[in-house]
Amino acid sequence: MTEYMGPEDQTRFSGLLRERRLRLLRPIGASAAADAAAEEVKALEKALHRLAAAEYGWCDLCGAEMGYALLERHLTAISCADCHGLEGDRPGS
Ligand SMILES: [Zn+2]
Repeated sequence: MTEYMGPEDQTRFSGLLRERRLRLLRPIGASAAADAAAEEVKALEKALHRLAAAEYGWCDLCGAEMGYALLERHLTAISCADCHGLEGDRPGS
């Protein structure tokens, strides 16, 4: 496997994931928002596990690097833009 995510980047994404999780775990009024937050907390925890296992940032479907730009926009992304496009979420449908 090529050097893609070095220790500094791992630390950076670890920080971003934890920070987002902390923000979600603060008390929330509406239960719909709480449900959405719980879902995202689960996804963030999965992402942290993936990061610890050096699997974070790789597309689950095609194995390509997803790239930092995508990860920073979607911290819990598990597939690259190409695969995500194939999986539904089609614009205008
Ligand atoms: Zn892919």
